[in-house]
Amino acid sequence: NAVVTGTTGRSPWSLLAAMHEIEADLGRVREVRWGPRTLDLDLVQYGDPAVASDVVLDEERLTLPHPRAHERGFVLQPWSRVDPDAVLRVGDAATPVGDLLAALDTSDIEDL
Ligand code: ATP
Ligand code: CA
Ligand code: CA
Repeated sequence: NAVVTGTTGRSPWSLLAAMHEIEADLGRVREVRWGPRTLDLDLVQYGDPAVASDVVLDEERLTLPHPRAHERGFVLQPWSRVDPDAVLRVGDAATPVGDLLAALDTSDIEDL
């Protein structure tokens, strides 16, 4: 698993569409949910809750921040490595990703 951070001029919806295009280009076949896939690109968060610039969305086609990111070591670990100061919104709280990671049992995560 890998996490990419960056800046974009695209809206969250446009970014998601571009990510779906990349998945399709690389031959992703959508089968069983959570089943094995060629590639899975998720939008974890858009903007920065540390400065209240993040977008919160509660739609089935796009939920922001990603509702399960805060409990996934395979997201939090690579994220905290590319950005040690990263902050994730969990409900009303802006929580350092490193703190979320420290609270998890990460013994089952392969080192990168
Ligand atoms: P999970 O969301 O638990 O990681 P998944 O990635 O396997 O599961 P998919 O089958 O890839 O789930 O995606 C199902 C739908 O989720 C997509 O069609 C997309 O519209 C929607 N979705 C909602 N929020 C997001 C998000 N933040 N990032 C990516 N897709 C999202
Ligand atoms: Ca996913
Ligand atoms: Ca996905």
